Amino acid sequence: MPETKNAIPSDITENLREIQTRIVKACMPVGRPPEEITLVAVSKTNTADRIRVALRAGHRVFGENRIQEAQGKWPALKQDFPEVELRLIGPLQTNKVKDALALFDVIETVDRPRLARVLAEEMERMGRRVPVLIQVNTGEEPQKAGVLPAGAPAFIRECRDELGLDVRGLMCIPPVDEEPSPHFALLREIAKDAGLSVLSMGMSGDFEKAVPFGATHVRVGTAIFGSRPMPAA
Ligand SMILES: *Cc1c(COP(=O)(O)O)cnc(C)c1O
Repeated sequence: MPETKNAIPSDITENLREIQTRIVKACMPVGRPPEEITLVAVSKTNTADRIRVALRAGHRVFGENRIQEAQGKWPALKQDFPEVELRLIGPLQTNKVKDALALFDVIETVDRPRLARVLAEEMERMGRRVPVLIQVNTGEEPQKAGVLPAGAPAFIRECRDELGLDVRGLMCIPPVDEEPSPHFALLREIAKDAGLSVLSMGMSGDFEKAVPFGATHVRVGTAIFGSRPMPAA
């Protein structure tokens, strides 16, 4: 068993406060109003009880990366805290689209035409237009999801103009072993060219670096909830 360091509940409240303070501090030198930046608390692998600590501390925006895990925790949590905004930040299979749309308020990981088509069809059927982000594979990593930067403008147009999706912006996960700033800059440029304003970028290790490049959503997990157990091999 790998050693895990889960934050105790009082830490979760304290950590949330500290991350918000760090966001404010990162905004100051670049003259950005901190209200422009939403802290998405990434609660994957955390139990409902631990998530409740963050909810009781007043936090309302959360990210999960697996549909099935989220289905086990969030219906009850949303019932108790109806103003929650739940964002899907992990890969979405087309056969899970219906489930995802029933639970999530924003889908951050639209990354291929077939998924975009199925999302559009299902939203039409449900009469529910869920805002989406396009995931861009800024590092052009073969194993990583996301549309390639060169293909992003055409894919954004397809989603928005042909399929009528409510495309709000872009999301990226830079390569783990690289300086993230060029990736944040690239995402901002693609968004600007497409007239999109939402930029979901920056995680526990680099969210302060994403702020000067215009991040509107930073997705922070371990810095709030403590380190996660290693995924099963
Ligand atoms: C897990 C995850 C995060 C949070 O990562 P931390 O390093 O724990 O902050 C952010 N974005 C995505 C897409 C994730 O899967």
